[in-house]
Amino acid sequence: MSAAELPFNDLSPGEDDAEVRAAIDRVLRRGWFILGPELEAFEAEFAAAAGTRFAVGVGNGTDAIALLLRASGIKAGDEVIVPAITAAFTALAVIAAGATPVIVDVDPETLMLDVEACEASLTSRVTALLPVHLYGQAADMDKLRQLAERRHLLLIEDCCQAHLATYRNQPVGSFGVGGAFSFYPTKNLAALGDAGAVVTQDGTIAGRIRRLRDGGQSARYAHDEPGVNSRLDELQAAVLRARLARLPDWTGRRRALARLYRARLEGAIAMPPEREPGHVYHLFPVRSSQRDRLQQHLRDDGIGTLVHYPKPLSEQPAFDGCRRDACTHAAAAARELLSLPLHPRLANGDVERVADSVRRFSL
Ligand SMILES: *Cc1c(COP(=O)(O)O)cnc(C)c1O
Repeated sequence: MSAAELPFNDLSPGEDDAEVRAAIDRVLRRGWFILGPELEAFEAEFAAAAGTRFAVGVGNGTDAIALLLRASGIKAGDEVIVPAITAAFTALAVIAAGATPVIVDVDPETLMLDVEACEASLTSRVTALLPVHLYGQAADMDKLRQLAERRHLLLIEDCCQAHLATYRNQPVGSFGVGGAFSFYPTKNLAALGDAGAVVTQDGTIAGRIRRLRDGGQSARYAHDEPGVNSRLDELQAAVLRARLARLPDWTGRRRALARLYRARLEGAIAMPPEREPGHVYHLFPVRSSQRDRLQQHLRDDGIGTLVHYPKPLSEQPAFDGCRRDACTHAAAAARELLSLPLHPRLANGDVERVADSVRRFSL
């Protein structure tokens, strides 16, 4: 018996196909491609959706983090705390901003920044905490905010996996200086290429990022500081506007599918806990001491999976020069994690099929 392939993701436009094509046509007809009306409209619409005063579109999520760090005053010689489990781009953005990442272990259950481990890693060089809202769930913002206030640290949020996520009803990206989003094609809100944005409540920070993303220009040909070229282009902005309108529905669908997974997999396999109803389920990882065998079993059943992430940052050669914890919790998780398919275009029957396959392996 060979069932149809069930890939990990499906990135071609689906029910949004007509709106995406109309958005592209609109930009082509206008003939204006960089820093125009689509970007301006998207920034206003995304800020409203994210629950913040300002949004600034940039080239990708990595640049969003780096420019937010720079606009916050992070500079060479500063250290910034990042969690050991995240996309390496979180820490690469710190380096791009001229600072140095300090890699800290994660909570063994939530797999997000362990606040006590953060405190143990503080020195006078550490000027900011950079928590990641991993898999779509907010990090422990109460404790992180308290630590930031007590030790006079900037709080900067990596929201690249957490579009529309909240922590105790407060939107991510609004807890400290600001939040950085990615619209990479696999993210909950996806462009047809690279794109990103910074959200902030602070008009000065927003203005600084607008300048930095455009070569540091305060006016045409007036380069006040060494900025970069990282502008969210009109085509991507138009596509993102079309999709932003559907994002609340898609997020609801992700949550419903995650509930179905949890009901079907309870007792069969370990799953990171849902601590926050504001979880937006960018990913649905499970944990197994037989991870590689489980992945092969699912592959034999025609089901695609991925690992987020196979190596903690503490074991990536790119960060050899950086301070790091032992990161034992992160290392254990990296051996066990397996992300199951979860996206709004899956049917309940697809999730049931995946869950049944996992149960056949586990029980
Ligand atoms: C995707 C991602 C990034 C990087 O975003 P890009 O748009 O690919 O540069 C950074 N941090 C996290 C947690 C991500 O998931």
